[in-house]
Amino acid sequence: MRDFSYLRATSTDAARQAAALPGAMLLAGGTTLIDLAKCGVAEPDILVDITHLNGLDRIAIDERGATIGALARMGHVADHADIKSRFPAISEALWQAASAQIRNMATIGGNLMQRTRCPYFRDPANFSACNKRVSGSGCSAIGGVTRGHAVLGTSEACIAMCPGDLATALVAFDATVHLGERKLLVDDFFLLPGTTPDREHAIEPGEMITAIAIPGSAAARRSTYLKIRDRQSYEFAAASAAVGIEFEADGRTIRDLRVALGGVATKPWRVRAVEDALKGKVLAPETVRAASLLAVEGAIDHGANHYKIELAPRVVARAILKLGETA
Ligand code: FAD
Ligand code: SF4
Repeated sequence: MRDFSYLRATSTDAARQAAALPGAMLLAGGTTLIDLAKCGVAEPDILVDITHLNGLDRIAIDERGATIGALARMGHVADHADIKSRFPAISEALWQAASAQIRNMATIGGNLMQRTRCPYFRDPANFSACNKRVSGSGCSAIGGVTRGHAVLGTSEACIAMCPGDLATALVAFDATVHLGERKLLVDDFFLLPGTTPDREHAIEPGEMITAIAIPGSAAARRSTYLKIRDRQSYEFAAASAAVGIEFEADGRTIRDLRVALGGVATKPWRVRAVEDALKGKVLAPETVRAASLLAVEGAIDHGANHYKIELAPRVVARAILKLGETA
């Protein structure tokens, strides 16, 4: 057993000040933090409970887009009528994440801050070398069991896959993370592993996520999230795609396209090469399948995860063609 103190924050400012103390960690739904504490990855000295902060669970939607408070529950957001109609990919990504029980506890802020599921990182016995857990200790996955690991954005220090479904959908639609006054694109909030895989998010001590904002767009309105996994529910993605599309008046020529990949990269992975290849083209299965191959440009496999390089373009193509059928 480890001792730690528990502090219930009464305001956002108080939470930020407490979060800046050495050894402090924010506690939201607890569905990730408690797991990480049990396996020894997280060793907080102070738990700063933010679940009682007023107003941080609001969902506000207007013509410009949606602003979702960091404490909004995943299940609540997934089920929100306006999110479903104006941002279907966001709702579908959340619905396909975790289980109903977890979605009812887990928050949007905690979801973006979840850590990788790499088994070496979470090894309760801490026998595994892992640069993400202990900087400079090595990487047991390289040359080890790699079926769930990333093929894009990897480095010689870490090949861990970013597991978040919501983050994949957010990066497709240019969402921003609000850290109080400071605002960052989701794409910039998630960091590549490079030589410092222990740092996954561009968040500083004493900062907390207060909200996310998603700009409204025609592509977000006609969007979907396709997740392929080993079993139908309660499983992380083997490969997933968040896709949004806007057609010209003819209903067949692509005016705007958004594509992001999940389950295959070290961070939520926007694939502008596919977007650029298809914008201005008439939607046709052969054209879409050929362009979707660009989604895995530069991919590197580590043996057992090779299948992801073949799977990801198929997932992208299927998602785009599915949206075309509803045109
Ligand atoms: P907590 O556990 O309370 O916190 C998580 C981390 O975020 C902690 O480090 C905490 O300090 C930090 N934090 C919390 N709130 C803030 C804030 N506002 N600002 C800054 N830091 C903050 N996710 C998927 O996307 N897809 C899945 O398929 C999926 N399957 C899962 C299956 C299981 C069995 C489990 C346990 C989890 C699964 N998850 C999945 C992850 C789940 O979505 C996260 O556990 C959850 O979203 C975390 O939210 P929380 O509020 O419980 O965070
Ligand atoms: Fe650690 Fe990353 Fe290697 Fe997994 S892939 S063992 S998280 S360094």
